[in-house]
Amino acid sequence: MSLTDAALRPVVDTVQVPTELLVAGAWRPAGSGRRIEVRDPANDTVLASVADADSRDAGTAVDAAAAAAADWAATSPRFRADLLMRTFALMRERSDELALLITLENGKSLADARAEVAYAAEFFRWYAEEGVRLRGQLGHSPSGANRLLVAHQPVGVSVLVTPWNFPAAMATRKIAPALAAGCTAVLKPAAETPLTALAVAALLQEAGLPAGVLNVVTTSEPGPVVEAMLTHRRTRMLSFTGSTEVGRLLLRTAADSVLKCGMELGGNAPFVVLADADIESALEGAMVAKMRNGGQACTAANRFFVQGPVHDAFVEGLVARMAAVRVGPGIDESTQCGPLINPAAVAKVDQLVRDAIDRGARALLGGRPLDGPGFFYPPTVLVDVPPDARVLHEEVFGPVAPIVRFEQEDEVLARVNDTVFGLVSYLYTGDLARGLRLTEGIESGMVGLNRGLVSDPAAPFGGTKQSGLGREGSTEGLLEFMETQYVATSW
Ligand code: NAD
Repeated sequence: MSLTDAALRPVVDTVQVPTELLVAGAWRPAGSGRRIEVRDPANDTVLASVADADSRDAGTAVDAAAAAAADWAATSPRFRADLLMRTFALMRERSDELALLITLENGKSLADARAEVAYAAEFFRWYAEEGVRLRGQLGHSPSGANRLLVAHQPVGVSVLVTPWNFPAAMATRKIAPALAAGCTAVLKPAAETPLTALAVAALLQEAGLPAGVLNVVTTSEPGPVVEAMLTHRRTRMLSFTGSTEVGRLLLRTAADSVLKCGMELGGNAPFVVLADADIESALEGAMVAKMRNGGQACTAANRFFVQGPVHDAFVEGLVARMAAVRVGPGIDESTQCGPLINPAAVAKVDQLVRDAIDRGARALLGGRPLDGPGFFYPPTVLVDVPPDARVLHEEVFGPVAPIVRFEQEDEVLARVNDTVFGLVSYLYTGDLARGLRLTEGIESGMVGLNRGLVSDPAAPFGGTKQSGLGREGSTEGLLEFMETQYVATSW
């Protein structure tokens, strides 16, 4: 049986959780018959097994998307919008069960999982609305000799690759704009959390998804499987969310066929607190920016810079708040911070903490992994973190807050920008004009100005520098799946 764990019972009573590949509208096993075990990071038990695709299955999935492409592109925007809106309604209706599914395979607290489902569903609603409002342009050439007509066409077959940390939202943030734009797609979710993606695909089918418009391929061999999809002659677009390291590899492969690429990569978000900030609200924002998903978010505050006069008060407040966080299995309603995704994640977090301590940082809270069976790391606060500590330069992806004291504004801007990443930055100040002025000097695609949360379906989400290319969400996210076509005409 592929759904092995009793914990899944309340989910599967209401939500269909397929465990095979979705290809051309049918659920089918991998050609090799192989399967992948999906484990619960809170107790390391096997929840289910799903089909383990190889590159041949991947090619078949792209064939299916290619076969459906022309008919789907020819449907009306309203037809596509209606499908997305029905999926939005189904996701909302089943949100408790979907949240439980996310918690079981990803580990995050139920509160975080419910917030994710609400956020994920909104992409279906936003793109249902946005897909029917897309405008072109008609202009005169400066010479007056002819007209310039500009329209947008679907880019074509799209390969969507998503990470495990937001198994629903990272998938819907790609599926909804791709389908709204008139593209067909193959989704490859992370092997750690395939069940949520499969359940979302089943909801789309329930809402009336035509065969081949969205295909889903789960695999334990992402390298060859994604390569087979990117080198398929019908693939036109790669939309990837994951680490910068893997993103670089995929950009190289995509270069051979000059694919359009949307890349949502890693981050190293600074969280700056200026002396004139409202400390209570900065602490509240810090907890959201640091602890959403137990720190396993690309937008997670990775390094705190606090100005001298408020440094001690901020540290004291953060330690108190972090110490009060209840750590445990996500399915306990009282849990605020679940386990990390796997033992490797715990080892990586611990390595970064050890490195900082070896270089002179002090742990005021936490600082050592918790005992199993799950993969738990406690909320940790580090102070006196020296500039060369790895934790200030690498994504920690866990509940660790390294704090650095600074005195001058200029000094902090240089520290903030001293990174290859540029996804998001947080800045707290009581003077909005000062905040906006500083924001202009910050090298990141997004800034939370007196806010610890930036994600919004209506906002362009994405990074500069090595945090990515392109944007998701907003109208920009729809245009990512379209090509601009210009027609020169005279009349
Ligand atoms: P990851 O790069 O290891 O994996 C992401 C996806 O790529 C998964 O589906 C994985 O199976 C696949 N993959 C892994 N190796 C591959 C290869 N060689 N070829 C093709 N595909 C491959 O990242 P992760 O650990 O799943 O997720 C965490 C990372 O994602 C963090 O760096 C985080 O910052 C980033 N992230 C970014 C955003 C964003 O919007 N910018 C959002 C969420 C997560």
